[in-house]
Amino acid sequence: MNAKKRPDGIKIRISGLSNGLHDYHFSAEPSEIGLEPNFATPVEIDVVLDKSTRQVYLKASLSTSGKFICDRCTDEFELALATKYNVFYLYDEGSAGSIPPEEVQVITPDTVHLELSEDVRQFVLLSVPLKLLCREECKGLCPRCGANWNTAHCNCKQDASDSPWQSLEKLLKN
Ligand SMILES: [Zn+2]
Ligand SMILES: [Zn+2]
Repeated sequence: MNAKKRPDGIKIRISGLSNGLHDYHFSAEPSEIGLEPNFATPVEIDVVLDKSTRQVYLKASLSTSGKFICDRCTDEFELALATKYNVFYLYDEGSAGSIPPEEVQVITPDTVHLELSEDVRQFVLLSVPLKLLCREECKGLCPRCGANWNTAHCNCKQDASDSPWQSLEKLLKN
């Protein structure tokens, strides 16, 4: 395992690297790789490189956490995030074969470093779920008084009289 400091991004030197498997671990401040301040903890990055004469195959595992706003109750909560991605860095585009194009990046024989920061940033962002809930059973806010039902009870009646038609009927009767 090589632990590396990064003055400018997350880089792995591949020029002169021997063929075979190589392990790396990086810990990057979210701001260093362009993530918003709501990403609160360092991004831990485990990388395995498999270098051969024609390509460098990279497998990366990422973990971090971020602070998000619950879609239902609007409270801020912290969410642990973890994801993985693969890249085939090919010295020759023609050798892509059946590799999915989104996993291919072409490099030149004189490439000195692999620069991971942008991929790491994007895959962290992709790991954020579309629906953000502080907990699966979040009760949300009272639509009438705004009380947070996770922590408070309110006396608003939540029944059929909430439908706009019934409210209208009430208005007409009064
Ligand atoms: Zn919530
Ligand atoms: Zn209420």
